[in-house]
Amino acid sequence: MAIANEHYYASKDPLGEEGDFVTAPEISQMFGEIVGIWLADLWLRKGSPDHCHYVELGPGRGTLAQDALRSLAKFGCTPTIHFVETSPVLKAKQALLHPEAIWHDDIGSLPDDGPLLVVANEFFDALPIEQFVATSGGWRRQMVARDRSKFVAVASAEVAEDRIGGSMSGFPDGTILERSPVSVELAGHLANRLAKQGGTLLIIDYGYARPGTGSTLQAVKGHMPISPFDSPGTSDLTAHVDFHTLANIARNRLLSVHGPAEQGQWLKSLGIDQRAEALINATPKQADNIRAAHQRLTHADEMGCLFRVMAATPIDWPEPEGFSYGEA
Ligand code: SAH
Repeated sequence: MAIANEHYYASKDPLGEEGDFVTAPEISQMFGEIVGIWLADLWLRKGSPDHCHYVELGPGRGTLAQDALRSLAKFGCTPTIHFVETSPVLKAKQALLHPEAIWHDDIGSLPDDGPLLVVANEFFDALPIEQFVATSGGWRRQMVARDRSKFVAVASAEVAEDRIGGSMSGFPDGTILERSPVSVELAGHLANRLAKQGGTLLIIDYGYARPGTGSTLQAVKGHMPISPFDSPGTSDLTAHVDFHTLANIARNRLLSVHGPAEQGQWLKSLGIDQRAEALINATPKQADNIRAAHQRLTHADEMGCLFRVMAATPIDWPEPEGFSYGEA
């Protein structure tokens, strides 16, 4: 999955109607603006600390950063810009909008001299997962083998109980369990940084809030689901984000965790309805487009419920807005 996605993101810009998938910031400026307002509110209530850094993980075309930074600037917050990105194609697109940004291949080189305002929209779902399959002999790693001209999933010969963490028994044969060691390591590093430097981590993605079983690995090409084994490296491979584990990692570093909340509720509680109205009043000719974008971002049948929002902040930072109605 890691190799296939690295090749995929390095070879093309996958975003947009003519690409493979569309993300929230590409649907409407309202999404990034709300993220920016959310960050600005937190920053203001913390007393407007100096030397803040805006960090985005997998910033795509740089659209979310553009909209969020414009909102932040309205409140006097002008952080330095750091992008964690591996794709040369997308780096080039990001540079068109943010020539002053600093790029990082991984999070280790992020600045250590001030609070980090970290945003990750549809980033964690692109990180590689491992799958395990329950067998009568115990949990085995799901491997990929070649059967003549096609790839197939097969359980490893050895039992791999030690890689799942904790005892997991009583599952019917064939049950699939997913783990993402790359996500765990990344979240742990970021949580340590936030505990030391201050700031916040905002994760927006599809995923599950409680531990679960079943395969969530999926591949999308041209806006259509295909088999993850069909010409790997040419489709977008994703898996649902394990918010439960990410939350525990943050809590273990003494951060407070907020959410996950449903994206629709989160955006509404932060004023997306009012923002849509203001945009319609300013550009009445765009009214239908703005209403459609609002619907896509917030409605339960679209991105409103499937996508979740979770934030982690050090305990001496203010309580972030948008999570007061409980967990999704
Ligand atoms: N956040 C953007 C793009 C989401 S697509 C948006 O909402 O529009 C996933 C992004 O993560 C792309 O920019 C991709 O190049 C980047 N990415 C994927 N795997 C990565 C990795 N291992 N390290 C850094 N960036 C990665």
